[in-house]
Formats: sequence, C-alpha cells, structure tokens
Amino acid sequence: MHRIPLITAVTSDFAGQTRGKGFPATERDERLEKGVGWTFTNTMINCWGQIPATPFGPLGDLVLIPDPATEVEVDFGDGSVAERFMLGDLHHMDGSPWDCCLRNYLRSAVNDLQRETGQTLIAAFEHEFHDDGMGVRLGDSYSLEKVRLAGEFPEAYLYALRAADAEPETFLPEYGANQFEVTVKPGRGVAAADRAIVVRQLAHATAVRLGRKVSFSPMVSPGGAGNGVHIHMSFRDRERQPAAYDANGPHGLSEVMGQFAAGILRRLPAILAVTAPSAASYLRLKPNAWSSSFNNLGYRDREAAIRICPVSDRAGAHVAGAFNIEFRAGDASASPYLQLGILVRAGLEGIRDKLPVPPSTSSDPAAMSDDERAAVGVERLPATMCEALDRLEAAEGIGDLMPGDLFGTYVMHKRGELVALDGLDADEICRRYAEVY
Ligand code: GLU
Ligand code: MG
Repeated sequence: MHRIPLITAVTSDFAGQTRGKGFPATERDERLEKGVGWTFTNTMINCWGQIPATPFGPLGDLVLIPDPATEVEVDFGDGSVAERFMLGDLHHMDGSPWDCCLRNYLRSAVNDLQRETGQTLIAAFEHEFHDDGMGVRLGDSYSLEKVRLAGEFPEAYLYALRAADAEPETFLPEYGANQFEVTVKPGRGVAAADRAIVVRQLAHATAVRLGRKVSFSPMVSPGGAGNGVHIHMSFRDRERQPAAYDANGPHGLSEVMGQFAAGILRRLPAILAVTAPSAASYLRLKPNAWSSSFNNLGYRDREAAIRICPVSDRAGAHVAGAFNIEFRAGDASASPYLQLGILVRAGLEGIRDKLPVPPSTSSDPAAMSDDERAAVGVERLPATMCEALDRLEAAEGIGDLMPGDLFGTYVMHKRGELVALDGLDADEICRRYAEVY
C-alpha cells in the first residue's frame, strides 16, 4: 500500500492526554511556521473524551505550533507505520502564548527561577506502569522471569526511546504484579517534561505494535500496587556547576535547594490537586503504600513526599552532580508540564521567602498524633480528589502560582471529571482510568 508520512503536532492538556492534529510530512517546514488550528474548548475535554463544562463554548481560535526540537520519528522495523509526532505550544492568533498552554506555563516558571535565582532546573521523570497483556505470575516482583515473560516489549521499547533521543537509563520489573518501571536521563527544564511525554507515548506505541496494552494510571485495580511518577530535581548555577548539594547542609541539601523543597512542601496540600489530579490518584496516595500521604521531607524514605536521594559512595567526586531530591506525590494522570511547572512555582516562593529546611521525618508520620505532626510542620495530605480541589480553591495567593485563566479553567475541568464518576465504586473508577492512561 502506498503511504504519505503523517506528522502529528500535539499538546499535553489538563486531562494529562496528548492530543493534536496532523499534516503530511512534505508540509513540515510550512507547518513549523503556521502550526495547526486549535480551539479553547479542546482543553476542557476530559480524559474520557467528554466536555462536562466549558467557559469558552464553540468560540475562539488558537494555533498549535510544533517545536522541531521535540521531533520524534521511530520506525519499529516491523513494517508497521512509523511513529511521528512533535510537541508544541498553544498561541493566540496574534502569537502571544495562551494562559492554558501548559508547556509555556512550565517555560515561564523555569525562566523566572533562572532569572531570579540563577538556578537552572534539571529534572527527570521516573515512571511506573502496568502491562495488561502478559500472563505474569503473582510473586514476580523484581524477578527475571517477569522480564522474560514481557517478551519483546522491553527491548522494543528501549529501542524506541533511544531512537527518540529520550536516553533510557533503566527498565525494571517493579514490585506489583504486571508492573514495570522505566527511567531516563535528566533534562533541563521544559525538555525534561517533553521527555516524560515521549516516555509515556512510546510505551503505548510499542504496546500497540505488539498487540498489548499498557497503563500508567495511578491505580489500575484497588488494592494493587500504585503507579507513581517520581520527579527528580536538581540545580545548576550560573557557572553550570551542580548547586543542589552542600556537604555541610542538612542531609547534603544546599541552602537554595532546601528553600525550594520547603516551598513545595508548604504548598503541597493545596497543589496536590495538580500533581496527583484524578480520583484514582487518591487510591494510590495512602499511608504504608510506598507512595506518600504527608507533606514531609524524608532522607532515604520511600514514603516521604520529597525524598532526599542518597548518592552512593561509588559516585566519588561526582556526588554534587548526582545529588537530587525526588518528589513522589505525582502520577501520570497529570500533564508533566503542569506538574513540574507548579512545583517550580511553589519552590520559587520558598526561595523568595528564604524558608528554612523542614526537619526530615525519621519515623512514620502515620503513627504520629496530629500534635506531634504539627510540631514538625507535617500534615496529612488530602485523601480524595474532591478534598484536594477544595484545598486548591481555598489556598491563599494561588493565582500567583496559576495565573490568568489557568486556575479557573483547571478547577472547572477537574470538577467536571469528578461528576462523571458519581456513584461508581473503586473497581469501576480504576477500570475507567486504566483504560485512558
Ligand atoms: N509504586 C510506588 C508508588 O506508587 C513506588 C515504589 C518505589 O519506590 O519504586 O509511588
Ligand atoms: Mg518504582
């Protein structure tokens, strides 16, 4: 069959979905200039393709301009159609960025961080996901047998990531039944979030070609293992030197990274509705589930909202370069641009306010009384998406973190998503989200 290569320009939206419009590859140069048409209400399409509410109606036009630096072209070598897409930015017709362009939102947050503090954000998104199509035995946690049973998937996926310049680092048979994890090398600012999209999309792209189905949904079945997205963050200063580490700081945190982490933790009860933005997110964020359910800082603690990652002695002189903090209260129902953007905005507030580094918890906050937690500045995070949205809406100065139309439209979108789940039990909620992430 004759074919013309098709390139799809895509945007990542409130629903954490990647949507766009395509054009023949022969028109690539022209489309890099004029983009493809888009409309405001598209951002109100929820993860199941419904538009429960929109402030925009059928009115208005935007353009989605693809960024050639993000171009993905992967030929899987099996005769199937190659994967071709570019991530892009949403502009008004006059070329100005739209408040709800999440890629631009992140760009402006990292630019403000850079301008005000001289720090360049370096980040990496670590993803967990489930593979539906494999006959894995229970008890396959971290087992070589699980890698074997995954057949061609791991190697075809690594090939695709490499071909897309996503720099895969590890692929592992995670703890949960049918669960895997993939990590990639860190990138600077927006490029790190671009890479997160590529990681998710190429997992789906590989699975489709192998007749399988993978899901990054935060919880694919009640009581199972959650799929987290852990966001690793560090800084480079104006001289491009690592700046997150100070051998004399608490657990190695530099002053600026300590303030940044403190800013995130202070805002976390309010911004959780953005970093963990679905009903399924809250089936994952429970005590004793290796996710996180308090706004605490932990050293080598895999239940802390922010974990200070240890660096092996074998890193030798590279400790400063390898040192990073890991944000664990996130998942793939969020757009990585919005997720990272709001972390940077909250962290930047912490730097501006010169917040002290919170004490790291050394015991399980779930076992502490409210008073004990209050004494160390730790509180239970919202336990449902509804509660999380209430906290977001009630937060003072939240418009500084989500300026312009962004805040109101986001809340409207997410409230509409919850209405669609009215009366459903946890099994059905998990099933619905597993289908679309
Ligand atoms: N699956 C856990 C989560 O939901 C993380 C387990 C781990 O530390 O790798 O975040
Ligand atoms: Mg993991």
